[in-house]
Amino acid sequence: RAKSLGKARCEFCDPGMQTQALQSLALETDLRHAVERGDFIVHFQPIVSLGEDCITGFEGLVRWQRNGALVAPDDFIPIAEDTGQIHLIDMQVLYTACCQLVQWGIDHPEMPLTISTNLSARQLTRPGLVDEVQTILAGTGVPASQVRLEITETATLGNLDELIETLHQLKALGISLAMDDFGTGYSSLSYLHRLPLDILKIDRSFVSGLDHDEYSQRLVQTVIHMARNLGLEAVAEGVESHTHAATLRALGCTLAQGYYYSPPVDAASATALLSGDVLVGCR
Ligand code: C2E
Ligand code: MG
Ligand code: MG
Ligand code: MG
Repeated sequence: RAKSLGKARCEFCDPGMQTQALQSLALETDLRHAVERGDFIVHFQPIVSLGEDCITGFEGLVRWQRNGALVAPDDFIPIAEDTGQIHLIDMQVLYTACCQLVQWGIDHPEMPLTISTNLSARQLTRPGLVDEVQTILAGTGVPASQVRLEITETATLGNLDELIETLHQLKALGISLAMDDFGTGYSSLSYLHRLPLDILKIDRSFVSGLDHDEYSQRLVQTVIHMARNLGLEAVAEGVESHTHAATLRALGCTLAQGYYYSPPVDAASATALLSGDVLVGCR
């Protein structure tokens, strides 16, 4: 906030800049109230088995209900990270997603699904994180083995030893850990084998190249092989076409997520996907 106010002051003579600073200040204030009130909903996107074309689980993605509109995460997650509120959002999303998974478990006991939510790397070494996750698992009664946390690799991963320790504690709760957007972050290869991960999500920028260039194909193939060699499950993100799915299947990828199957949808529509006849849960 100090930054945007400072900007407003020093650009005082530029009305455009001033308006922008005031708008971002309003956004921050609104966001703070939204976090207090819990004005967030979770949309769910299926994660599909490429072998069987069935739903193995869902990723829960946050949306902010602001003045009757839905705000996308890219428009407020960075602000929430800067203001230190991101952990409150991440825990609300995890809680909502776990409740939903419990409900799906009751409705469809024949198909055990997984639920994934995102955890901002900024809060990974925050004291209390592991306890809060444990409280949510216990409070919702969700089977921990069906819960996954996705972490994006960023330059701000910070102290590696501390990070590894936290990840081990999270895994000790029985949940799985995924590296999100793999390939877009920093120095991933140098520490990948040291992190106790279970899943590697191949960033959609690599998947989108599968249509037109052979280099992307080789790149994706290499990542899939590497994941397998490290004992990690690979999930392809951003699968938008039949060609993407077929190519990934041929390259040995087992799980996929993308608009080709379904965009993220609200809980009711996600539930309908589970009993629909286009894509059904794995039995
Ligand atoms: P992500 O975790 O990598 O999630 C996947 C994003 O890709 C989602 O965007 C999803 O809608 C989008 N997507 C899925 N399939 C396709 C496709 O076929 N094509 C294209 N072009 N896009 C696709 P969304 O929901 O806008 O979320 C954006 C990012 O915001 C997420 O990327 C994640 O990094 C972050 N995010 C979302 N929810 C949360 C949350 O609860 N906590 C935190 N810390 N971050 C979150
Ligand atoms: Mg994710
Ligand atoms: Mg991702
Ligand atoms: Mg992303």
